[in-house]
Amino acid sequence: MFRGELREVPADLQPAEIVQVEDMRGHIVGAGYANPASSILVRLLTRGTALPSPDWAKAQLLRAIARRKERMGDVPDLRLVHSEADGLPGLVVERIAGYAIVSPDTLGAEELLLPWLLPEIEALAPNGVVLRALAPIRQREGLAPRLEMLRGRAPQAPVVAQEGDIRYEVDLFGGQKTGHYFDQRENRALCRSLAAGRRVLDVFSYTGGFAIAAALGGASEVMAVDSSEEALQTLERNAALNGAAVAVREENAFDLLRQLVRDKEQYDLIVLDPPPFARGKDHLDAALRAYKEINLRAMRLLAPGGYLLTASCSHAVSLADFLAVVDDAAQDAGVPLTRIAVRGPAPDHPVRVEVPESDYLHLLALQRD
Ligand code: SAH
Repeated sequence: MFRGELREVPADLQPAEIVQVEDMRGHIVGAGYANPASSILVRLLTRGTALPSPDWAKAQLLRAIARRKERMGDVPDLRLVHSEADGLPGLVVERIAGYAIVSPDTLGAEELLLPWLLPEIEALAPNGVVLRALAPIRQREGLAPRLEMLRGRAPQAPVVAQEGDIRYEVDLFGGQKTGHYFDQRENRALCRSLAAGRRVLDVFSYTGGFAIAAALGGASEVMAVDSSEEALQTLERNAALNGAAVAVREENAFDLLRQLVRDKEQYDLIVLDPPPFARGKDHLDAALRAYKEINLRAMRLLAPGGYLLTASCSHAVSLADFLAVVDDAAQDAGVPLTRIAVRGPAPDHPVRVEVPESDYLHLLALQRD
């Protein structure tokens, strides 16, 4: 709850203190952790009179794990806790290669939830627990970046994450561009299922999530495009690790798409998975223009019968916005398309109805006539 939403705030409110919030009539709304240094003064953890405790936190974690198991089976590497959407605001926990990677974004997550859950998290991760708390948003909570081992010894080299039968190198202790985007797991599987015999272009490829899936799905040719040399070097190692043939191009995607249209290239499957163009509502218009541009160009590159898988992971761009911008691009491109699927993130990134921020990833699958 924002400071402005609260009428009376005790002057001696302590950082990471558990507080109860009352409504105007004196009824207890729920309890949460406070951060006097943040504009979000209290984040609610429980409703009604129940108080958050280590046992409460453990129950949240166990529920998160059970839900994933129900939907995904026994998956070794995945996101185990997705912050507020799993009832643990500010805390993200992933497991990769037997390591737990914990990322608290808020003071309460770092000072309360993490210590409460550390024994359970440790039990889920035989190789150790990495605290990877580098998100810029921590500044708003008065927190400095941290990257350290909480338990166990640091891996001496990048580790390998498993996604189905595909393996990806992940540098747990690397710079900023690390990690693996588990949220696209099922969308990569869709890509793989559509790829047989097709000429594939994976734009904003990062370390090759979609490109490698397409190659293993029997694509006749795969080209991956990214502006990051480091990501493409990892992609090449990942391709080798999986016996996949992928050509890479280090370019600005906007320029390259324009060039490919000029060269009259054609592809049978194009993936667009850009970074979030809109970080906040202020950037929405510019973001929508950027989405329109790349989608319009990609549509022009589609061969007859070709597929376009196009994603947005901008929190500020709703599904309705994204559908509209893609429709608009199709109109302008004059390309007849059938929408064959509208998809969200994998089950380890649950979309919680009352948490709009959790509904951030949209992927549309379209097919040209
Ligand atoms: N599809 C990937 C994730 C993409 S993340 C996967 O499945 O894992 C977004 C990527 O876009 C990053 O690797 C970033 O380097 C790249 N990127 C950002 N701006 C770019 C631009 N203008 N041109 C090309 N790549 C860009």
